Amino acid sequence: MRCKLAVIGSPIKHTLSPFIHKNALLRLGIECDYEVHEVKKDNVFEFVKYAKNSGICGFNITMPLKCDIIKYLDEIDPSAELCGAVNTVAVKSGRLKGYNTDGEGYKKSVEEKGFCFDNKNIVFIGAGGAALSVSVCAAKAGAKQITVINRSLERAKELCGFIKEKTGLSAVAAGFDEKNLNKSAQTADLLINATPLGMSSVSEDFEDLSFLNNLKKDAFVSDFIYNPFKTKLLSYAENRGLKTVNGLGMLIYQGVIADGIYLEKDLDFKALKDFVENEYKKLR
Ligand code: NAP
Repeated sequence: MRCKLAVIGSPIKHTLSPFIHKNALLRLGIECDYEVHEVKKDNVFEFVKYAKNSGICGFNITMPLKCDIIKYLDEIDPSAELCGAVNTVAVKSGRLKGYNTDGEGYKKSVEEKGFCFDNKNIVFIGAGGAALSVSVCAAKAGAKQITVINRSLERAKELCGFIKEKTGLSAVAAGFDEKNLNKSAQTADLLINATPLGMSSVSEDFEDLSFLNNLKKDAFVSDFIYNPFKTKLLSYAENRGLKTVNGLGMLIYQGVIADGIYLEKDLDFKALKDFVENEYKKLR
């Protein structure tokens, strides 16, 4: 069997999508042609026309097109409706259906480390697209409380309003300062860095991580970042004996869940994710 897939976004040069999908499909015995298309906001329609006529069975969407694609879809899955963003499009008989696998991907990555959203207090540092997908997924999955700490308080409030509208949970917005970090850490079951702070290509990092000292002994600390594999935030938490989860599991899970959608098959996501993760580690 052969399958043709693609990813679109801009910038797209350093995407790991071809690596993830080719390896996952290889593991399933399926050969995959995976195209990488640099597509800017103005060229989405052009790509959509191409996708409908080129034998592509699905494509992944990354920054900054996750919302722009919506107007070209024939159908939208509740996973994408919930967060107002699409990262996966299945193409069937010229029709496009959009999904979002980011939240579910993250959920699986923490579940395999022993964390379940239900009845938990979750603190997000950051209020961008990634925080949005995961926070609504967490709220839907039964989170008891969500706090969004963000540099721009306005954006934190917007995300909290969105969570309330989509899920009914009243989330708490707070500014990104020492006092709020210290206070929120005290009751968090899971604290997530959803900012680029600590990413290898970014010069900025957390100036002071001592707020992590306030976390409960059984709390989890997570970073959406996967490069570096272990950010300073995760190292600090690990040294305190806290459980940590980086962003690699989220990245790979969102991809293999998308493969299940393209192939219209129930796949063993864990086995596929483990396979791709091992291949990735060999590269490092
Ligand atoms: P985004 O939409 O651009 O949002 C970035 C967020 O980080 C905003 O809340 C922004 O605050 C905050 N921020 C940026 N620079 C900051 C700084 N110097 N100090 C404090 N806050 C800062 O980005 P995103 O798509 O949500 O991505 C967020 C992170 O998740 C990135 O590191 C990205 O690589 C990672 N990510 C990982 C995966 C995965 O699969 N593992 C998937 C998606 C994203 P303001 O609102 O104040 O600007």
